[in-house]
Amino acid sequence: MKSSFIKYLRALVAPTAMAAVSVVLIGLPAVVMATNATHNDCLNQLRTEAVRLGIERATFEAYRSHMVMDATVLELLNRQPEFSTPIWDYLAALVDEERVIDGMSAMKTNETALAGVSARWNIDPYTVAAVWGVESNFGRVLGGRPLLASLSTLACNGRRQAFFKGEFMAALKILQQGHVVPEKLVGSWAGAFGQTQFMPSTFLSTAADFDGDGRRDVVDNAGDALASTANFLIKAGWRSGLPWGFEVRLPKGFDESNSGRTKRKNARAWQDMGVTRIDGLPVVTGGKTAEAVLETTPMALLIPAGPSGPAFLVTRNFDALYAYNAAESYALAIAQLRDRLAGGNRQITAWPTDDPGLSRAERRQVQTLLLARGFDIGTADGMMGERTRRAVATVQRQWGIAADGRAGQKFLQRLSSN
Ligand code: CA
Repeated sequence: MKSSFIKYLRALVAPTAMAAVSVVLIGLPAVVMATNATHNDCLNQLRTEAVRLGIERATFEAYRSHMVMDATVLELLNRQPEFSTPIWDYLAALVDEERVIDGMSAMKTNETALAGVSARWNIDPYTVAAVWGVESNFGRVLGGRPLLASLSTLACNGRRQAFFKGEFMAALKILQQGHVVPEKLVGSWAGAFGQTQFMPSTFLSTAADFDGDGRRDVVDNAGDALASTANFLIKAGWRSGLPWGFEVRLPKGFDESNSGRTKRKNARAWQDMGVTRIDGLPVVTGGKTAEAVLETTPMALLIPAGPSGPAFLVTRNFDALYAYNAAESYALAIAQLRDRLAGGNRQITAWPTDDPGLSRAERRQVQTLLLARGFDIGTADGMMGERTRRAVATVQRQWGIAADGRAGQKFLQRLSSN
């Protein structure tokens, strides 16, 4: 992904939120709609620039029929999140039993490729698989928006034209180099595509050709996708033989001003402050195991929901996950899924809530019950989109409780028994 802007974008789009803080609604700026004629004029300008960047005029013209104006991406560009998502909701859906089971199965199916990628990039296969699971549900959910339509629209309209023009040109290069055919170049509204959900520019700088056929096919080739993810993490500073981090226990009266992803101290310093691993073992283990933490390993303390919730010490490898998508909740989801895929422990300390989040199976249950009540929310896909959340808010209003649009365990229980 990713330039800083796309990190910002993804943070906006992904259901991330570091704490259960309400997001204030902001009035949406009016979307300026371009006509087909002006879109066509803009495409002509883009063609001139594309040719200057080494894209053949014939290539541009060959794909021109795909560059249709799509006003819906401009609405998405300007959309402010209507509802906030507590971190425990975010993690409950991303690291649920279903994803662990699907992940183990996907790892088995792609055992040879994963082992090869793991050996060549010197990175553990569970981490690579965990990114794959969170980004595209192990290659199953790639997004359905044609990139040339979205990116040409965003390059010609809206408030980030320069950025999207670069991504549009990168997409054309991908096509010209023959890595992916245009019909397969589909993804998120902002242009992330394939099993790695790379932006086109990230693809050009980072995607890898694992099977050596000359194409970096992150759409249909799981080996290429996994290799590309491994390559991304290594370039982002991943160091093999170091854990992402682990859950810890803080001593009584711990000064929480020590927390924060960029406030690094040596592992020994945390240990001297009375921090232990969650099972009571010391932070520093030494040795040369995969989980080795040396006295001088820089680590930062995260307390995503405040001092009464879980606490984690994290290394530079957590930052490499964060580089994939700039949200700590996102990096934590990958880290925890990685541990579960590796047969490790779940988080021990409960989130500070009496109303925990729902797994995707439970979300589908909520949606099925809402559908049965006549709400028009599409299909029960386990994704809590705007329509589902508005339906939840309507039910909450009927019940006379705070209409925050959030469905947790309590909402599911009450809806099931009504
Ligand atoms: Ca290939």
